[in-house]
Amino acid sequence: MGDGRGIETAAKSIAGDRLRALKHADGLVSAVLEVGGLSPEDAAALQARVRAAVETAPGVSAVRIVTTADRRPEPAAAKPAAPAPAAPRPDRVIAVASGKGGVGKSTVSANLAIALARIGRRAGLLDADIHGPSAPMLLGLTGRARLEAGLIAPLSAHGIAVLSMGLMADPGRAVAWRGPMASSAFKQMLDNADWSGIDTLVIDMPPGTGDITLTLAQQVKPDGVVIVSTPQDLALIDAERALNLFQELGTPILGFVENMASFRCPCCGTETRIFGEGGVERAAAELGLPVLARLPLDPALRAASDAGTPQPSGHFDALAHRVMERLEVLDEADVRR
Ligand code: ADP
Repeated sequence: MGDGRGIETAAKSIAGDRLRALKHADGLVSAVLEVGGLSPEDAAALQARVRAAVETAPGVSAVRIVTTADRRPEPAAAKPAAPAPAAPRPDRVIAVASGKGGVGKSTVSANLAIALARIGRRAGLLDADIHGPSAPMLLGLTGRARLEAGLIAPLSAHGIAVLSMGLMADPGRAVAWRGPMASSAFKQMLDNADWSGIDTLVIDMPPGTGDITLTLAQQVKPDGVVIVSTPQDLALIDAERALNLFQELGTPILGFVENMASFRCPCCGTETRIFGEGGVERAAAELGLPVLARLPLDPALRAASDAGTPQPSGHFDALAHRVMERLEVLDEADVRR
């Protein structure tokens, strides 16, 4: 989609009639978005999504998107106050995201939460993948969450508190949920659940840049996001698209986890970079972000995940420490600002 028409189609697929003009010349894409009737947050989110869709197109070196609000500022409408959360929010909220599915995001989320508990945090896992919840399988959970004193009570497994759509409703039914319904189910699992015993919550996000991602960035405002990618270029391009969206929306990025980075032959011990090498490192260096962990392709991890019997792992303990350190670095940077 390097030509102007392909880029316009991509932008239109997100903004529809709100895309008023789009030009592509010498690598610069400029566009005007009509944002009348949208809240400032929704307008910024739409702008960010259009930008994310266009800027990775071949031949595009810069993107300039002007909204009608930039030209004709209107006083912000008085908004009703958001309802207060029913339960206190955990001290630390860490989102784990990826550009596409199948890169190991859920595996990393679950094992990171368990490792955080192992290093002394009171950790929880919120599986926000409404359409494909995997936490129950990864953790060997079969029960159902109950309501206690008006709040959803997370289940407990492997030292952590867990909530997932797969523990609440018939998962088959949730697949049909779209946009606002899925986002509100996500918010309920956060705001109307009893996370009071938890100080560090890991949120396993759905892949990509959909509604739940926007809800997370704009309303939940996590302390930071971990981006999981395999080393292949395609996974990385998608990961960068998700990352760009978080950056546009002001969500702090903790760093990358490179998953399935290498495979050690059980017979001869030779290490092979099956999915290529160096891509995640390069992307991280370009963005000034750390690679928090490089996880090997490990058949034992796959088997333990499928069986719902996660095992202690030095890799995940190290990741848990790195994540906590990174949160502190970001806190200090925040204080200095
Ligand atoms: P995602 O959440 O990104 O869709 P999953 O965590 O469900 O991905 O992982 C996809 C599959 O890859 C699962 O079968 C999982 O057990 C396997 N997997 C993930 N990471 C690894 C790894 N480092 N080594 C071996 N298998 C892995």
